[in-house]
Amino acid sequence: MKYIPIVMLLLLAACKTPDVVTQAVVEPRENKVEITKPKNIVLLIGDGMGLSQISAGNYDNDNQTALEGFPVVGIHKCHSSSKLVTDSAAAATSFACGVKTFNGAIGVRADSTPVQTILEELEERGFSTGLVATSTIVHATPASFIAHNEYRKNYEAIALDFLETEVDYFVGGGKKYFDRREDERDLIAELKARDYTVEDYLTDFKDCELPASGNFAYFSADKDPLPYDQGRDYLVDASKAGLSFLDNHGDQGMFLMIEGSQIDWGGHANTPSYVLTEFYEFDIVIQEVLDWAKEDGETLVIVTADHETGGLSIRETSTMDSLDIEFISTHHTATMIPVFAYGPGSDLFSGIYENTAIYDKMRQALQLD
Ligand SMILES: [Zn+2]
Repeated sequence: MKYIPIVMLLLLAACKTPDVVTQAVVEPRENKVEITKPKNIVLLIGDGMGLSQISAGNYDNDNQTALEGFPVVGIHKCHSSSKLVTDSAAAATSFACGVKTFNGAIGVRADSTPVQTILEELEERGFSTGLVATSTIVHATPASFIAHNEYRKNYEAIALDFLETEVDYFVGGGKKYFDRREDERDLIAELKARDYTVEDYLTDFKDCELPASGNFAYFSADKDPLPYDQGRDYLVDASKAGLSFLDNHGDQGMFLMIEGSQIDWGGHANTPSYVLTEFYEFDIVIQEVLDWAKEDGETLVIVTADHETGGLSIRETSTMDSLDIEFISTHHTATMIPVFAYGPGSDLFSGIYENTAIYDKMRQALQLD
């Protein structure tokens, strides 16, 4: 009995040291989001990948998707400055530049003035940067991260912007906009002169040797790459190779945008199998990136879409093994879009916000200015 009061006195004395008291006072429990700064950002955009496409892809894949591995889920409002129903150009510009612009616009504000993209800013700040797509590389989504044009289909002009910003790694179709141009310039020769190793579809992506130094570009097709179910198979390999290439490219961190471009095209075509196979491939990429980020520990991964395409519905007659899918449109819809985030800074992405906030949140996560 004698020892207990002495022990208690000692404990009380320890608790009354000034340090402990001060800490208790200056650290009130606030309902604050703790932000940890990521080194890298990987932004994955499933074009036309609304919640219905994700749901259908999930059920079609034995009721599982890589997206279940993301702890933070938010929703963005995807309308553009000109229309309630956006297109991919205005939507990707909102992610890339943080501004609402008009449908068809690439990297310009609603008044048509150019605005710096996050890729351009990060490249300027010494990050390694990359773009991977299953469309042409000058198509709306990848273009919006590096080009500035009032009209998304000015492909040859958009290709010129690849010489304005030294994106370190890019993979996609559209070779002809670089080497069979009206102005007769050979942009591939110009890229090579600027320390790019350039490969194309004559070599399978997986047989390409990535350079130990300099930049890398791969053209997967002259125009649009094939759909996944017709033999296109580079997206997984090009995404994984991009992660390690950019990670070893410098010590400043990386920004990599990966687009599953053709989920949208399946929606426009109102073809369920096209949507499902494109989602299936993109889901594999998401899992690969998530696994890489878990290993890395310093990478913020964001997965979202620009808009939904087709008004895809999973009808009442569906079963888990046999989906009965119907579309209401061959165009995009205005439904709000899910956002999935993992890694340092991911907490910023919960809630409901405008699509432009994705740009703001990426910059906030990186603690820029
Ligand atoms: Zn579309």
